Amino acid sequence: MRAKGLSREKVLAGLKQARAKDLNYENGKILCSMCTTPHSAARMAHELFSNSNLGDPKLFPGSVQLEKEVVSTLAELLHGKKSVGFIVSGGTEANLLAMLAARNNAGAKEPEVILPESAHFSFSKICSLLKLKPVYARLDNSFRVESSSVEQQISKNTVAIVATAGSAELGAIDPIDKLSKIALDHGVYLHVDAAFGGLVIPFLKELGYPAPEFDFQLEGVQSVTVDPHKMGLSTIPAGGILFRDSTYLECIKTETPYLTEECQYTFVGTRPGASAAAAWAVFASLGREGFLKTVKHCMELTERLSSGLEALDFEVLLRPTMNIVAFRCANAKRLTDKLRKRGWFVSYVPRLDCVRIVLMPHSTKQHIEAFLQCLSEVSKS
Ligand code: PLP
Repeated sequence: MRAKGLSREKVLAGLKQARAKDLNYENGKILCSMCTTPHSAARMAHELFSNSNLGDPKLFPGSVQLEKEVVSTLAELLHGKKSVGFIVSGGTEANLLAMLAARNNAGAKEPEVILPESAHFSFSKICSLLKLKPVYARLDNSFRVESSSVEQQISKNTVAIVATAGSAELGAIDPIDKLSKIALDHGVYLHVDAAFGGLVIPFLKELGYPAPEFDFQLEGVQSVTVDPHKMGLSTIPAGGILFRDSTYLECIKTETPYLTEECQYTFVGTRPGASAAAAWAVFASLGREGFLKTVKHCMELTERLSSGLEALDFEVLLRPTMNIVAFRCANAKRLTDKLRKRGWFVSYVPRLDCVRIVLMPHSTKQHIEAFLQCLSEVSKS
């Protein structure tokens, strides 16, 4: 550490120098991220609540109220009539809390969790932390988990089945209606990872796109992950975990001896009230109408990109169900590298040997046309 502090101007100059090295969403060249430019109201709220700690709630009753209201808005969107939940650090922590609840609730000696082959990598970390044995279920031709494969894997050790509503790689939505029935028949906990899809799918039907049931409407679903810091246009970090009802809270409770509350339910102790405030500010500013507009924009870009890729003779892997497109070509990894040299950031997915693109609110029609133009040049070189 330096002996004496710098002036505000010098600190700002240092920050700006580092910031200039970061990519920005605004020029449209980030096509691989599930995060985006936060809504201006989220940034305002984040600044206003920068010292608020939801881990010490009696000091910050206003922030607690905002967190409750955000959770109740999410619950309403996800048809959770008695849902309870928390704003956490992201999808990873949300999935962790769901698996902790499921494992502690079941009390099996050698606990196992059934995961689709497409499950997010956060579950690898979680299984290792919670000493859960991951058991993988096969996918069908449309990259959704095969419900029969899930059912075959159920054993006396199964503490949870995980389904994904919007896989990170392709945006595929598992057949959660079938999994819900299986979970109820076998008395197994079903968790839905809708970290990305939870703020997209609830708006699809009204926009004329197919939208399968994926939430608490299905009786077997016990918890859902849904992240405001992805399609919720909130500032980072803002994940969300919702449980069907309060019965699971006992399973994730930790006593907190010296704080202004007696127990906590989240993994992270000191929790930013700014995250809840930012999510609240976005919901208040946009309302349902604003979310519909945002999702419509992303889906229209998705359709345009998908047809543009087909016109260039690329093999689009799956008719997009959400705002993610993936395509195959002769050397997808090399193509990804070439695009990166031209400034375009897309993902390469080794498991599927494909290029993956996420159409987020920061992208525009002009960006997508420019990308298709560059892709057509690069793929011939
Ligand atoms: N689950 C899904 C489906 C995701 O897409 C992601 C992240 O992209 C996560 C979980 C993990 O979320 P986070 O990176 O916020 O921890």
